[in-house]
Amino acid sequence: MRLFGRYDGLARPIVTYGSNPVLHRACAPVTVFDEGLRRLVLDMFASMTAADGVGLAANQIGVDARVFVIDCPDADGEDVVGYVINPVLAVLEPREDEAAFEITEEGCLSVPGPYAELPRAFRARVDGVDLSGEPVTIEASGMAARCLQHEVDHLDGTVYVDLLPEDVRERLLALAAGPSGELPA
Ligand SMILES: [Zn+2]
Repeated sequence: MRLFGRYDGLARPIVTYGSNPVLHRACAPVTVFDEGLRRLVLDMFASMTAADGVGLAANQIGVDARVFVIDCPDADGEDVVGYVINPVLAVLEPREDEAAFEITEEGCLSVPGPYAELPRAFRARVDGVDLSGEPVTIEASGMAARCLQHEVDHLDGTVYVDLLPEDVRERLLALAAGPSGELPA
């Protein structure tokens, strides 16, 4: 017998670049807060973990909903773990002698394999709601701040390679493609 309320989440296949329009258009705001939404969040954590990712947006598993999960170290090496529904991104001012932007390598489960350097704000914050509809905020620096920006981009239909020059994007997509020229499923 299944225990009521107990559900660990199932890893779902990751949508790769160009394979499903849901990855390339803005996702719909969440309006229904039900058991299905809770299962989606748990499935997203399971999918991120199974794919060895540091963040995942709902459209990366084919779901048209403004939700992302994150499990990523910040600039101090502290893990930022959480999820946000209907996130709104804010880029924050640097503190003291920090640089406002950082250029480091970025990758994506939907473009599996290659990485590319991309400037991102060093500090960022996301405001949204949790599964109860209560306000939540995640504020982060370094790689976790990069991840927040990357995931909200996903929910707006933008994959990080879309932010790169066309020749770089085509090279990365070719690198991610398998022997048949198709991205691995
Ligand atoms: Zn991604």
